[in-house]
Amino acid sequence: MMQKPGTSNQEAHPPLENDAGSRLDRLTSSESLAAATPVMAQYLDVKATHPDDLVFFQMGDFYELFFDDAVKAAQELGITLSKRGQHMGEDVPMSGVPVQTVDDYLRTLIEKGHSVAICDQTEDPAAARKRGSKAVIRREVTRLVTRGTVTEDKLLTPSRSNYLMALAQVRGDTGNHRKSPGGLALAWVDISTGTFRLAETDAGRLVADVMRLDPQELIVADSVFHDETLRPGFDQLGAIVRPQPTVLFDSGSAEGRLARFFGVTTLDGFGAFSRAELAAAAAVVAYVDKTQLAGRPLLSRPERESGGSTLFIDAATRTNLELMKTLSGDRDGGLLKTIDRTVTGGGARLLAERLTSPLTDPDGINHRLDAVSWFLADTALADATRKVLRGSADMPRALSRLALGRGGPRDLGIIYQGFEAAGMLANLLVGKDAPAEIAGAVTDLRALPEPVGLLLEETLAEDLPLVRRDGGFVRSGHHEELDAMRTLRDESRKVIAGLQQHYANETGIKSLKIRHNNVLGYFIEVTANRAATLTGSDEARAQFIHRQTTASLMRFTTTELADLESRIANAANRALTIELGIFDTLAQTVTEAADPIRRAARAIALIDVSAALARLADQQAYCRPVVDKSTRFRIVGGRHPVVELALRNQAESPFVANDCDLSPSEGAKEGAIWLLTGPNMGGKSTFLRQNALIAILAQTGSFVPAGSAEIGVVDRLFSRVGASDDLARGRSTFMVEMVETAAILNQASERSLVILDEIGRGTATFDGLSIAWAAVEHLHEVNRCRGLFATHFHELTVLSEKLPRLANATMRVKEWEGDVIFLHEVGPGAADRSYGIQVARLAGLPASVVARARAVLNQLEESERQSPGRQLIDGLPLFSAEVERKSVSRTSPSEIEAELAALDPDDMTAREALEALYALRAKLLHMQERNSDRKQGGAQHNM
Ligand code: ATP
Repeated sequence: MMQKPGTSNQEAHPPLENDAGSRLDRLTSSESLAAATPVMAQYLDVKATHPDDLVFFQMGDFYELFFDDAVKAAQELGITLSKRGQHMGEDVPMSGVPVQTVDDYLRTLIEKGHSVAICDQTEDPAAARKRGSKAVIRREVTRLVTRGTVTEDKLLTPSRSNYLMALAQVRGDTGNHRKSPGGLALAWVDISTGTFRLAETDAGRLVADVMRLDPQELIVADSVFHDETLRPGFDQLGAIVRPQPTVLFDSGSAEGRLARFFGVTTLDGFGAFSRAELAAAAAVVAYVDKTQLAGRPLLSRPERESGGSTLFIDAATRTNLELMKTLSGDRDGGLLKTIDRTVTGGGARLLAERLTSPLTDPDGINHRLDAVSWFLADTALADATRKVLRGSADMPRALSRLALGRGGPRDLGIIYQGFEAAGMLANLLVGKDAPAEIAGAVTDLRALPEPVGLLLEETLAEDLPLVRRDGGFVRSGHHEELDAMRTLRDESRKVIAGLQQHYANETGIKSLKIRHNNVLGYFIEVTANRAATLTGSDEARAQFIHRQTTASLMRFTTTELADLESRIANAANRALTIELGIFDTLAQTVTEAADPIRRAARAIALIDVSAALARLADQQAYCRPVVDKSTRFRIVGGRHPVVELALRNQAESPFVANDCDLSPSEGAKEGAIWLLTGPNMGGKSTFLRQNALIAILAQTGSFVPAGSAEIGVVDRLFSRVGASDDLARGRSTFMVEMVETAAILNQASERSLVILDEIGRGTATFDGLSIAWAAVEHLHEVNRCRGLFATHFHELTVLSEKLPRLANATMRVKEWEGDVIFLHEVGPGAADRSYGIQVARLAGLPASVVARARAVLNQLEESERQSPGRQLIDGLPLFSAEVERKSVSRTSPSEIEAELAALDPDDMTAREALEALYALRAKLLHMQERNSDRKQGGAQHNM
């Protein structure tokens, strides 16, 4: 691979050794610890175990950061950098964020690729004081916040899965260990929903597989991170890749670690996994344990994804077709956003998952399509379904928070809403002769344990607080003692109001107030200038005990008030204790029902996706594709889903629908390739992309933007569209184009669909034409796939005379008074010119340049009359492709192979057999000699 020196992705993966590292070593040295105050020593202890994380150190209502962490956080978050005393003779930089709003800051930091260690106070300050006046409050790191391991709603995007992924590599028993990447596997989990999957991969498809799943974080062993074969892929993936200690990925202990995580003695019941898959799964679990220190998330059992079950879309194609986002990174302009009509977070996530991993099994695809058709046939039912769905909430994410002990009363509320929505949906859809997918979903909805729903309904109040310590989430009438305590608390409050009135009358100070704060509790407050009444006599002083004086106020208490206060506090405490107990029971009950809840959530998502796709089909006039095992590809009146919408929104002339037929001819098995020529701006790229997108949508299980569509499932989709360079990796535009083209020519099969847009344009004309020419031949003769090949090399169109499955198509234009009018219509035939100069004129090139260009063009065309394409086709046999096909294709044996096959050893004497062997060997040697003579002759000729 041509890699310019020093162009690897330095920014994404900074070197491990740096200044900050050595400063940290100094700070955590024994000398430094000895010089530190007790709190600082505690901090440094924590920092020493989390050198690579930003340590958020709780000090009361704030999380504080110190030293380099403080500086980094101040920069990233735009917060003030201050200092807190000195350590070893130097100022200690400090910055901090309020505990209450920490999520907002965490979001920014993890989005920028940082990880944060949350070090919480784990005891009450009062309890610490009891241990001694100098005792330091106990603090512990309760979790590490990283992009792939968050569960908070504020840190998650409802419509996106939040995957943490691990890549594991196990060495084969043989082979060159240093070079061979060995067996590779990926494991990915979404802690926020419990999804856990596994799949094998290989060095060639690693980047494509990772991009398909779009994880927030990919952990790899330090040793693998530096693997020379894999490293370029990691650089391409950028900052999501996080090297971790190699021991996390140890395949020997993987099985045991997984079994312990799932509380089983053996993994036999989980299915058969490869060693690499086990290692990846165990690494994910170990990392989850490492980050979720205070609780263990509920993960589903790992499910294996089998290799060929999804349509393989290589990384470049995925990016270029703008499935999830545009090339500029805008999610709104991607295909997903254009087709997304889901109304729940789970539905949006499922649609994204389906779109990134379309199926290859026609039965699976047709089941999905049946569900869409069913809703489309009954739009009233679809509307009613969507109305119920809108009211349902995101159960899996609430469930995960509850299981991790990070949930609040509103999470219980979400589960309750989910139960309600599930019940309503099941009632709406049951007994309606639904297709298998929907019927299955309804079964899952009905399997939700009714008692759990009832318990939540009976227990939860209407308005739920965010945090459980606020109390008030249990409805009155549910728990007798709780009600009694609440009455006592509330009545005592009334008594306080009465007491305030009484003291005001008694002292004659109308402005006297009884107030409350966290330090003093309840107190009587008067302005300083009226305070004399309360302090003037012994009698008054005996009643009103002085507590505090501020600049303008004086504060007092009385025995009566103190009494009342303790009654209120006791009642409130007791009430809260009861409520927290109820919360724990509810959370546990819900957590125990995790499996049916998750299945029901998946069912809700599936119903949402099916109804949403029906809605899309209805709104945008999409049709149901016929998907089968053939190699047909026949689209009538196809449109580009995104461009069509854009044109409509801009009130431009409407999108022109076009047909595309790459189906095999009668009796043949292999599909066709269209060679598409036409003017610049004629709509070639749009046409190419729309057909790729139609194939993807169809295999996703969606209707497609066309009048009709017949698609034999595509196993791999390749495209080389749009120019992009990758200078950071030391590849020029042309190099990227060639790397991608090479991948296509090496991998496409008879079932694949290949889209090539103007290959060979990034180099000198003859080089480009030659490469394009050879590539078309190779696709036709060796890959034998279905394909669309757009080009400005009109010379290529003569190839259709020799290649039977190659057909010419062109984008029609009209010329009118020297101007070109784009009709955007695809028809048979070849374009005779590119109208580049007309397009340049439309683009505003100076008139003098346009005129000069015309003159040059006329001259060039004059000298090109001999037509090199015609000469080539007449003079150049399809030699290279034929030779390669013979060596690659199993269907055409060589002469020697044919002779060998014709022999019948049972019918030969030993002597005959020996003679036949001599004859075959002689023939082979003769052919080899001839070939080497020919090569030498060719080489001399080239010199
Ligand atoms: P070039 O050779 O210069 O790259 P192209 O032939 O690939 O051009 P496109 O980029 O596909 O052309 O299309 C140019 C513009 O034409 C698009 O931006 C789009 O707005 C419009 N267009 C393309 N196809 C259609 C269509 N079928 N109906 C209406 N407008 C279309």
